[in-house]
Amino acid sequence: MKVSGESLKKLPKVDLHCHLDGSIRPRTIFDIMKSAGCDLPCKEPEGIANYVQVDSTCCSLTDFLNKFEFFYPYLKTPESMERISYELCDDAAKENIRYMEIRFAPCLQAAEKVTQEDILVSVLAGLKKGERDFDIKTGAILCAYRGTEREAWEKTYALAEKYMGRGLCGLDLAGDESRFPGAPFALIFDRAKSAGIPVTIHAGEAAGWESVKEAVDVLHASRIGHGVRIAENEVFVERIRDAGIVFEICVTSNVHTGVCPDYKSHPIADFYKKGIKTTINTDDRGVSNINLTHEWDVVQTKCGLEIDDVLDMNIFSVDAAFCSPAEKKTLKDRIQTETRKIMSGLSI
Ligand SMILES: [Zn+2]
Repeated sequence: MKVSGESLKKLPKVDLHCHLDGSIRPRTIFDIMKSAGCDLPCKEPEGIANYVQVDSTCCSLTDFLNKFEFFYPYLKTPESMERISYELCDDAAKENIRYMEIRFAPCLQAAEKVTQEDILVSVLAGLKKGERDFDIKTGAILCAYRGTEREAWEKTYALAEKYMGRGLCGLDLAGDESRFPGAPFALIFDRAKSAGIPVTIHAGEAAGWESVKEAVDVLHASRIGHGVRIAENEVFVERIRDAGIVFEICVTSNVHTGVCPDYKSHPIADFYKKGIKTTINTDDRGVSNINLTHEWDVVQTKCGLEIDDVLDMNIFSVDAAFCSPAEKKTLKDRIQTETRKIMSGLSI
């Protein structure tokens, strides 16, 4: 059975892999650039979408990242970060995302007079206001960034320790895995393990299955961002499945960046059917011009999955969330109750 349209939108959802900077409303980018006094390429907010969003023909990482280049310099203020965090809660709650983990690399937004901590505090303030005004729970994940100076990621790690449990729920490693291996980052991820900070790592997207192995064996990841390239090694696939590692799959993002040539050849259904803990996420809802409802739709219409598979994966997301056991139980009860109600209404 497949579910689409309003019924699909109504179903309660969880998104574990969403980048704050890739999820900004085009209109907000227009506003921020305008108030920064920069030369805008268009007079009306509607026109900015062409510059900050890819279209369905995009299939290259370079084209995808170029969209970020356009607006990135204007994000480096606490006000902008608080606003986009708040608006993301609004957007997610509108499609019935009940719990969302939002990640960002504060070293990329820090500037001469703005520290990584200023950025983190403003994001947490935006998320807190969002939780107050909209029906959603959130957790922030800090990203250490491949290719940056050790001093930058040491600072990021110190913030993770300081704010853990105060709006922050985990640590990630993002950036170009094909040029910057993860091993040097063991320095902070060993400490994260000792401190009990949950870890997810971007791996197996731009680099092969070995990158996922490194993330699990060296960096203590319990979740992997993307990881689609484990398909290159069947033996490793079995090992990683048996270890219960959770995969944060972002189907449209993988097509837009050219990691997968099209939806049909995406391995999400294969992973799920092999028993891998597979979850469905958005990655960059703004730049990709999608939401989680869209992703739930495409995996049913283009990747060979049914609604029951999708709902099953939604529960994997709850189980793998980096929130406390008590929050997880409340979330799971709510998701199961709401899902049952909506699905029984459809079957009648
Ligand atoms: Zn990502």
